Amino acid sequence: MRIIRSIKKLRQFVKNAKRKGKTIGFVPTMGYLHEGHLSLLREAKKDCDICVVSIFVNPIQFGPKEDFSRYPRDIKRDKFLLKSAGADIIFYPSIKIMYPPGFLTFVVIERLSDVLCGNSRPGHFKGVTTVVTKLFNIVQADIAYFGQKDIQQSIIIQKMVEDLNMPLKIKLMPIVREIDGLAMSSRNVYLFPQQRSDAVILWQALKKAKQMINMGERSSQAIISSIKKLICTKKRVRIDYIDCVSIDNLTSLRKLKGRVIIALAVWIGKVRLIDNIIVRA
Ligand code: AMP
Repeated sequence: MRIIRSIKKLRQFVKNAKRKGKTIGFVPTMGYLHEGHLSLLREAKKDCDICVVSIFVNPIQFGPKEDFSRYPRDIKRDKFLLKSAGADIIFYPSIKIMYPPGFLTFVVIERLSDVLCGNSRPGHFKGVTTVVTKLFNIVQADIAYFGQKDIQQSIIIQKMVEDLNMPLKIKLMPIVREIDGLAMSSRNVYLFPQQRSDAVILWQALKKAKQMINMGERSSQAIISSIKKLICTKKRVRIDYIDCVSIDNLTSLRKLKGRVIIALAVWIGKVRLIDNIIVRA
């Protein structure tokens, strides 16, 4: 496994690999890796000859009051995990390399970026789509892997790839969960023990929603108010949003029909957690 910090060196590596007819799989991450990230890498290894994992905590996707500076980082541990899991390249650029002085260009996917997490985190998806475009241009992968954990992000990136004719395939992978159902996230490390045990309420809420849908409930209002009530039994948990949206365009649904995402975001102390399920109604 090689760690490459320069864009030029990465391009050279990719050029050589492509000349030999190798396919390239790409897993973009912000590091502090867990099984969720590694599941993407394992899938990439099944599909592609060479797997590139990027580690870059992207400053422009964090709001001014968000957790950019205290986002967890541990490159030593990440290197070890990626080596054990069989990554070929870690692309680990500096902020200065990605955003040199005078950087002026941004990629915005309209509408999809303004709802759900985009509503609570203005500018977040503009930062995501800009960095992902840069990474796609640098890595030139055949397939890039994203997790359902960040379903809105994946849908926005899929749309961007289609709209801008980017020559790669996007593969969406399921959410990897802890034994009690909490979706794995680098941010889980911030949770104090009591908060960690409260956090399982997200998964319980989503399971409850699924149960209601399986029993024939189609009113999103009924589902949302029922899971709101469940979450409110945890005094330390504050709801950011709960919504039932169409998987095609992320619009809120009054009556559930077809493939639907139940998505939620909550605050537990200073930690904002997200989770979702996809259900067929
Ligand atoms: P991050 O480092 O949080 O930006 O995540 C990098 C990639 O890993 C994104 O495509 C995430 O959706 C994905 N990911 C994060 N957590 C999980 C999880 N628990 N299960 C599956 N994929 C995940």
